[in-house]
Amino acid sequence: MTKGTASMGLKGRGKTHIVCRRCGRRSFNVAKGYCAACGFGRSKRIRRYSWQNKKVNRVRIV
Ligand SMILES: [Zn+2]
Repeated sequence: MTKGTASMGLKGRGKTHIVCRRCGRRSFNVAKGYCAACGFGRSKRIRRYSWQNKKVNRVRIV
């Protein structure tokens, strides 16, 4: 298979992200082995940014 647009059609099968066992979101990338949301598997510290979640009355709503 060639690179580029033609090979992108194969990427639809299978799952890229599974449920993360640290943050509970379905953001744990199986191939890369780390969570896109909290950084589990990549760093000890939890990946967290102020702009990550919308907050109403200083309470995080997901
Ligand atoms: Zn996570």
